[in-house]
Amino acid sequence: MPDPYAPALPRPTEPKPYAPAELRALDRAHVWHPYGPMPGRQEPLVVESASGVRLRLAEPAEGQRELVDGMSSWWSAVHGYNHPVLNEAARGQLDRMSHVMFGGLTHEPAVRLAARLVEITPEPLQHVFLADSGSVSVEVAVKMCLQYWRSAGRPEKQRLLTWRGGYHGDTWQPMSVCDPEGGMHELWSGSLPRQVFADAPPDGFDAEPDPAYTTRLRELIARHAHEVAAVIVEPVVQGAGGMRFHSPGYLRVLREACDELDVLLVFDEIATGFGRTGELFAAGHAGVSPDVMCVGKALTGGYLTMAATLCTSRVAEGISRGEVPVLAHGPTFMANPLAAAIASASVDLLLGQDWAGEVARIGTGLRSGLAEAAELPGVADVRVLGAIGVVQLDHEVDMASATRAAVREGVWLRPFRDLVYTMPPYVTGDDDVRRICRAVCAAAREG
Ligand SMILES: *Cc1c(COP(=O)(O)O)cnc(C)c1O
Repeated sequence: MPDPYAPALPRPTEPKPYAPAELRALDRAHVWHPYGPMPGRQEPLVVESASGVRLRLAEPAEGQRELVDGMSSWWSAVHGYNHPVLNEAARGQLDRMSHVMFGGLTHEPAVRLAARLVEITPEPLQHVFLADSGSVSVEVAVKMCLQYWRSAGRPEKQRLLTWRGGYHGDTWQPMSVCDPEGGMHELWSGSLPRQVFADAPPDGFDAEPDPAYTTRLRELIARHAHEVAAVIVEPVVQGAGGMRFHSPGYLRVLREACDELDVLLVFDEIATGFGRTGELFAAGHAGVSPDVMCVGKALTGGYLTMAATLCTSRVAEGISRGEVPVLAHGPTFMANPLAAAIASASVDLLLGQDWAGEVARIGTGLRSGLAEAAELPGVADVRVLGAIGVVQLDHEVDMASATRAAVREGVWLRPFRDLVYTMPPYVTGDDDVRRICRAVCAAAREG
């Protein structure tokens, strides 16, 4: 194509960089942060750049200019920052087009990514909706399930059933299935759709499923099956709802009960997907597959916001046979080519290496490095699964002092509630894993 902007491209002059103090003042005055008040009460650290597993700060904090990232930017940056392969995928796509609408048009990055997701997820999942965030992908999953039953002539099936302790995002339907107590959305319990809650699954990845719990769970599903469209859960690891692990056996129980009782099963793998728990998808621990599955977070290797809702042909065809034979959802930035191109590169990068070996290596490092935390006063539990390490306190963590203690060790952590936890990028070397463990212990001691 000829260059449409030649010859006289007006270029705005480069803005003058802010001094860190100026930047912080403007941030405080104008910018919302996650779960924050306005104006902000905590001073956020200013990050200037990031590379590998390190965040570079604009000014030293606790004597540190660089922090090893123990959070993978909320589970997403599994390959680390500024990765040459992902940068190249981004640049290549940027030079072709960063975005084009998805209504009536399609493009290779979206098709390639969708085909790849179908290939690597459990076999019955065949159709892919590319959404722009995890919460939206959960909204889409819920809409699919409700519409499936409406199309099947059973519009009364419109509630959801889940177990306590979950987290599914911050928009309306996802909020309604987050843990209703002590969670981030308790304030809204009166105005959210009222869903059906089972007790949280008993703790312990390796624990045998508790038959009494299993029976109660089945009975609850049976009692509400006439009004429930779907069971939605995070498989194996409940993330932001409390960092708890449960036996994969419960997922098999859900699959059987849902099949028997005409209820759809949704797995929210937004946090667990792409290897974090030691299986490519956590459903793999149980050997079951859901009717609808959400992935996000690590999908683009932490580069851009994108998530996907996958469903079976039964669900897709059911919707399309209905009185309204379309899925009425279509975000402006649906299937964004830039995000999709990076996502495909990220998935290829992951699958082209011994990711399971790396996750296991990090898990081993976390297990040995966090063992001493169990002896600390105020620590209630220490647990590790895949590349996730959790220290649970017997009290609410003092976020400011816990964060400071970690930063002093040269590590970035973001504790919440009674939890100091880490899920490092898979490229974190053994020395840095040890460093992260020292920081988790320091944060647990001082938090
Ligand atoms: C983070 C998360 C979400 C929400 O994803 P966003 O991209 O933050 O909207 C939903 N479900 C689970 C399990 C998550 O961990």
